[in-house]
Order: sequence, then structure tokens, then C-alpha cells
Amino acid sequence: MVTSLATFLFIISLSISSLSLTRSNPLQSNFMQCLSKQINRPNPFSSSSCFTPDNSSFASILNSTANNLRYLLPSVEKPQLIYMPLDESHVQAAVVCAKGLGIQLRVRSGGHDYEGVSFASELGDPFVVLDMSKLRSVILDIDDETAWVEAGATIGELYYRISRQSPTHGFPAGLCTSLGVGGHITGGAYGPMMRKYGLGADNVVDVRVVDPNGNILDRQSMGEDLFWALRGGGGGSFGIILAWKLKLVAVPETVTTFTVAKSSLEAGFTELVYRWQQVADKLDENLFIRVEFLPGTTSNSTTQKSLQALFNAMFLGDANQLLQVMRRSFPELGLQQKDCNQMSWIEAVVYIAGYPTGTSPDVLLQGKPLFRNYFKAKSDFVRQPIPQPALYGLWNKLLETDSFVMIWNPYGGMMSQIPEDRTPFPHRKGTMYKIQYVATWQDGEASEAQHMAWIRDLYAYMEPYVSQSPREAYVNYRDLDLGMNKDGQTRGAPEASAWGINYFKNNFERLVRIKSKFDPENFFRHEQSIPPLPSSTRKGKVFEMMKQTLIKGGEEQEKATKELLEKLDGAEQGDDQEEIFPNGMQAFQEDSKPGYQSFVMYDASIE
Ligand SMILES: Cc1cc2nc3c(=O)[nH]c(=O)nc-3n(C[C@H](O)[C@H](O)[C@H](O)COP(=O)(O)OP(=O)(O)OC[C@H]3O[C@@H](n4cnc5c(N)ncnc54)[C@H](O)[C@@H]3O)c2cc1C
Repeated sequence: MVTSLATFLFIISLSISSLSLTRSNPLQSNFMQCLSKQINRPNPFSSSSCFTPDNSSFASILNSTANNLRYLLPSVEKPQLIYMPLDESHVQAAVVCAKGLGIQLRVRSGGHDYEGVSFASELGDPFVVLDMSKLRSVILDIDDETAWVEAGATIGELYYRISRQSPTHGFPAGLCTSLGVGGHITGGAYGPMMRKYGLGADNVVDVRVVDPNGNILDRQSMGEDLFWALRGGGGGSFGIILAWKLKLVAVPETVTTFTVAKSSLEAGFTELVYRWQQVADKLDENLFIRVEFLPGTTSNSTTQKSLQALFNAMFLGDANQLLQVMRRSFPELGLQQKDCNQMSWIEAVVYIAGYPTGTSPDVLLQGKPLFRNYFKAKSDFVRQPIPQPALYGLWNKLLETDSFVMIWNPYGGMMSQIPEDRTPFPHRKGTMYKIQYVATWQDGEASEAQHMAWIRDLYAYMEPYVSQSPREAYVNYRDLDLGMNKDGQTRGAPEASAWGINYFKNNFERLVRIKSKFDPENFFRHEQSIPPLPSSTRKGKVFEMMKQTLIKGGEEQEKATKELLEKLDGAEQGDDQEEIFPNGMQAFQEDSKPGYQSFVMYDASIE
């Protein structure tokens, strides 16, 4: 009887899976059939982990964590299939099958990519999304002060789990608690403890990753090069993170937060913001004061538009200690005892994430973003205070629109002590603060062009006041305006230098070399993944170095770049470098217009 019931269930399950397969297109059915062959017990393949667009749950699964609604618009290409692995062997199988079948695979953990590259594509090939959200365990070892965290867990869940086991431990990563640890830490991961402890990526001690051949590697088996690249080189380039092993950090039992709001209608507004620029990166490293600029509320007495600046802070200590620091270092803000909220670290996490006062930390287990909208964002790093006249101009730009947010995040402290090449994240000593500009809207495509134009114009306005050559940008604030891979197969490295240098400065070259070694066929790719060197360059010592101008626009620049690429394509092993680059780097520099004269050099002697 038992046998016949089992046989009956087996027949039913076969017919369900063959039903779903007959409805599928070849890509979908081949992928699912391959998975069912690759995945064995104890956790066999189930077609119920696969969602194709004709499945009634497809839209809700796709939308579940997608943060930027722009990438859910009907005009955006959707995946052919979403696969939700239930254990590590399923991830390995997905890689083996996608690679074997020539299918492009995207990986999504928390879905917060600014340009949606984890679940949408502009490359044109049909693709499958591997959604890691069912792999979200957090295993803590408080004695060892470490945690193994699976990629699909949110950073908020990690914070919550730590706080349930210890009131004096924490982890220094993002402010927004719905970020997935899989994508977040691969790009750096900054938050309110960065001035004391650095980034999330600076506090990684081990990792488990699936490589392009479907093997699981850890720090020891992958070696220090790949381990370096994974901690800040951006998601979706080198492999699929299964889990990070993180070093926990000490937090005091009492933490203090505050938010002081100032209006641009008040006297001294610009002077106060200017003063913040002078002190924010030099304050006690236990103190993180960011400034959030928002549209101001229009008062009854005036119809004048205004800005609001929220000085929003977390201090690792009690209110008395904080007030002393503020009196000494930033008295101009006028912080008072009544502005200070003393709480536990986990309550401060909830506060600084933007939840209403009194929200229980249990909210972090929901893993849901506080808000979602259509947006376009950009970032800058500032090395000199922006002069006051330029600030007035900036306020005018912001007042042109009603829906934006601009956030200034202070650096200094530990961020200045970590060398630029310790991890791929290069924005260290000399950086005073980072700017994030965000244009938001609610009506989909209707006002998109207007908001895009506004933010691009704002970015152009800011150019003289921010880091130069390169104009640095934060890879976790992905911005496809900086450039993108086109076919993802050839010429990738030279073209990608257009944006790779902005994100990684000189570390880009090492990232390209590591990519060329570990994923030469460029299996893990998206619009801004790290590309391998073209195979002709990789094969031998064809070139001592490859020189490439950054494509920053301008006909002259583009023509020079195109010619260079054509020469590279035609080059043979053994060709004389001087013949390929008759004018040499110097000529490129001389021909360049001011502001466009950055170069990247590759040591192309990779076997
Ligand atoms: C509302 C909001 C607030 C934010 N706040 C902060 C902040 O406080 N601090 C900060 O540093 N950043 C912040 N960010 C940026 C955030 O760090 C990045 O968007 C990050 O990439 C999100 O990771 P994710 O897993 O949620 O996103 P996803 O969209 O899932 O992935 C992002 C990228 O990583 C890749 N990826 C995802 N999972 C994996 C994996 N398992 N293995 C390999 N690659 C993977 C994806 O392919 C994609 O390229 C914020 C973003 C948003 C939208």
C-alpha cells in the first residue's frame, strides 16, 4: 500500500512537472530539465522553485524585492525564469546548467540594485534570475565574535540576530535594513559605524562562493586575489556568494541618536552646512552625522520654496559624552540634551533606518523596504569643502524640483586609515564625504524624462566641486550613465574603464586581471560587471601594456578610442607595441580635452 501510494505521488509529480515543461519555451524547459538531472538527494529539484512568466506567482516573486520600480515597467525586459534555490547544491546546478546551455544568469539577493541589474537586463539576451532569498540563515558564534550569513538574508536580519544574542556586539554595514547581504557587501557596505570600524567589506573574514564551473570555493581554496576582489569589487562579476563570514564589532550598551532639522529659510543655513563640511570627517570616530537634504515644507506665511537639512546622527556612547563632543567640535549645530535619544544599538539601527520612533526591532525580520519608488541616483566624493557661493547655486538647482533627496555621508576615522588598495573600494584617505543625489517620482514613465534630465543637469553642475580625474563614484550606487558593457564578450576591459576607474580607481586594473583569471569566458556578467581582458590580450605577451582613454564623451575622444580598439582587434601575438600605439600614451594625453585625460594601463602579461 505504501509503495503504491508513493508510486501514485510520483506519477502525479511527474505529470505536474511535464505539464509545466510542455508550456515552457525551449530555454525554460532545457534549464529545468538540466536542473532536475543535476540536482540529487537529499534536496532534489522541484519545479515549484521555478517561476516562468505564465506562472500566476511570477509577477509577485519578481516584484517582491525589486527596489527601483523603474525596472518593473512593462517596457523593461523580464527574465525568462526565476529560480529560487533551497540549498547550495541548487546554486551550483544553476551555474552548471546556465553555463552549459549558454543562458545568461543574473543573481539577486536583496533586489536593491539601483539600476536593477539583478533582475532586469539591457544587454538584450534572454536571461534567468537566480533569486537567493530562500538562503538566509544567520549562524552566530558570539565567543568567536563571528557570524556566517547566507546571501539572501537582509542586513537588518543580521543586525537583529546579533542583538538577540549580545547587547554589546554589532556589525558595521548599511543604514537601510532591507539590503541583501549578497549584493550589499560585494560593493563595500557603509553605514553609521564606518568611521569607527570601516565598511562591511572591511570586516569579512571568509566567504563561500560558487565559481563559473559550479565549484564551491572558500577563502583558502580561492586564494587571496579572488577573496580581495569579492570584498568591494561589486556584485555579479566573479561568482555567486553563498555566505559571508563576518567579524562582529563591539557596540556600547547605550547608543545616542539625534536628528536636528534646519530650514534654508533660517538665517545661517548655508554657513552651518559649510561648517559641517569642515568638521564632519574630523569628529570623534564614534560619531557619524550625515546631512539629508529634502524639499522643505512651505510655511503658511510665505509661498517661498525651501530646503530642509536633517542632521541625522548615531553616536556610540551616551548623551553626556555626545554633548561634550559636540560642544568641543561642532557647537554651531546647537545640539541640546532634549535632542538626544538614548537607546540600545539595535533600536538605533531601527531609528536611523527611518522607522517611526518606538518601532519594535522585530520589524527587521520582515525584510521589507520602508518605501519604494521610481528613482535615478548618482554619487560623488568630496575632497575640499564646497565654497559657499557654489552651495547657493546648489540650493537653486535642488529647488527646481519637488521630489529629490540628497545625502552627505561623512568619512574620516577608520576610513582614512585603510589603504586604498586593501580592498577594491578605493575612496579612503582624503575623502571628506560622499554625496548621493536621488531623483524620485511616482508616476512611472510619465515624468521619467524630466527627472532624468534634472539629475543629469545637477551632476554636471557639481563637477567642479567634487573629486576629479577620476570623478569617483560608489559602485553600490550603480549609475549606468557612467557607461556600460555592451555585448559583454569582447572589448570589455577597454570600454569598461570608462566607469571602472570611477568606481575603483587604480584597483580596477587588478579586478580585470582577477576576472580574466577566474572567469575568462565572462559567464558572470551584466551591464557593469568587471570584464575580462580581450582574449588576444590575455593569450601572451602581445602588449607590455594596453593604454586606453576614458570615454567621457566628445567626438575627438570617441574617435581616438575607436581607433585604439580597432588596432587592438587586429593585433597579433608578437606585434610591436610601438606599431600598435604609434603615438603612445603621451599623444593621447596631449590630444585630450581638459578633464578627459585619464588613462588606464593594464599589465597584460597574463598567461
Ligand atoms: C533604499 C536603499 C538604501 C541603501 N542604503 C545603503 C547604505 O546605507 N549603505 C550602502 O553601502 N549601500 C546602500 N544602498 C546600496 C546597496 O548597498 C546596493 O544597492 C546593493 O548592491 C544592494 O544589494 P542587494 O543584494 O540588496 O541587491 P541586488 O539587487 O540583489 O544585487 C545587487 C548587485 O549584486 C549582485 N548580487 C546579488 N546577490 C549576489 C550574490 N549572492 N553573489 C554575487 N553577486 C550578487 C547582483 O547581481 C547585482 O549586481 C542602498 C540601496 C537602496 C535601494
